[in-house]
Amino acid sequence: MKKADYDVVIIGAGPAGATCGYLLAKGGAKVLLVDFKREVGVPVQCAEFVPLQLSHKFPEFFPKEVIAQEVKDMVHFTPWNKVVNMPSEGFVLHRNVFDRNIAELARKERADLLLRTRFLGFEGERVWLERVDTRERFFLTADFVVGADGPRSRVAKLTGEHTQSFLATAQFTMPLGRDLGDLLIFFRDYIPGGYGWVFPKGKLANVGVGVDPFFKVNVMASLRKFVEEVTAEGLVEKRIVKRTGGWIPAEGVKKPLRERILLVGDAGGFCHPITGGGIANAVLTGSMAAQSLLEGDPQEYEEEALEVFGPTLNRAAQKRKKLMKRWDDLKFIIPRTWIAFDEYWKD
Ligand SMILES: Cc1cc2nc3c(=O)[nH]c(=O)nc-3n(C[C@H](O)[C@H](O)[C@H](O)COP(=O)(O)OP(=O)(O)OC[C@H]3O[C@@H](n4cnc5c(N)ncnc54)[C@H](O)[C@@H]3O)c2cc1C
Repeated sequence: MKKADYDVVIIGAGPAGATCGYLLAKGGAKVLLVDFKREVGVPVQCAEFVPLQLSHKFPEFFPKEVIAQEVKDMVHFTPWNKVVNMPSEGFVLHRNVFDRNIAELARKERADLLLRTRFLGFEGERVWLERVDTRERFFLTADFVVGADGPRSRVAKLTGEHTQSFLATAQFTMPLGRDLGDLLIFFRDYIPGGYGWVFPKGKLANVGVGVDPFFKVNVMASLRKFVEEVTAEGLVEKRIVKRTGGWIPAEGVKKPLRERILLVGDAGGFCHPITGGGIANAVLTGSMAAQSLLEGDPQEYEEEALEVFGPTLNRAAQKRKKLMKRWDDLKFIIPRTWIAFDEYWKD
């Protein structure tokens, strides 16, 4: 029988896919990373915070040029004027450099990287791809496929259950009005089903909102109101350096193994349905999938991923349902659905 073109084809070269590709290639597998972007990591669609622990596990992902700022705490501002502090040591990244660095590590281990190439679908053993610039269609064969194609994963959609509820986000990068060493989180009625954030990044800050589309609020209108509030407080200057946004999976984990297809990162719903944090989980699931494939036991990936992430993310998804039902009473529901509050742990 003819050997497949690759041991593993990975769709998506974000942190999940690139980590998986890096570790598989390092373990000796023949790997291809496919992404429709022109440049890995660009455009950035992220507030760019990662917890410190990730850098202990993968120090090679944290050379000094990926770190924009160190942070110590996450400070929460409520509409009832209570301010709650939570230790949250970590980094605000240059996310484009972070993603590029992991993909470069994969390339150094001899993973192939095919950019400007879109995944279209499967046909038996064939993985159909299309060159974005020429629309030329072609196929490759692979023993396994890893779906690392982000929140609106086509790989997940074509193979079974996939995320259907998302948070809609919008973000401006703006100059800071004063020095800031903490991550700031704001709960406001005009940011329904989500929250606003100000994450410092050197002399700049990522200022954004995530809302639940269920409330039919215009995410840009919500962001502009939030920007008015934080500029009035002198936190940031009224100048937009960069704009971005994107979708955050808000449902919890989806079945990670579908015969010879593994889902990692946002594609498998491994993003926190309340906080929206997903970079660390993307790296970790990418790493677990690589390990299981190197050991020839993909079932092990499903078991480990569900054991490690299932309880937390699915519990958060349940809490999210409560949050949505009681958004009319922020003072009641926020403390019960955010880990920074004592009530969260009692509920
Ligand atoms: C505004 C915003 C702010 C956020 N802030 C944070 C934060 O501060 N901290 C945090 O931890 N998380 C944050 N997140 C979530 C975080 O960005 C994601 O969890 C993380 O990017 C998931 O990584 P991934 O590799 O799974 O997917 P992605 O980073 O989305 O990578 C998927 C890749 O797949 C490619 N792709 C998609 N479809 C195809 C296709 N058909 N063919 C070829 N390639 C394809 C894409 O081009 C992309 O490069 C934020 C998200 C948003 C939208």
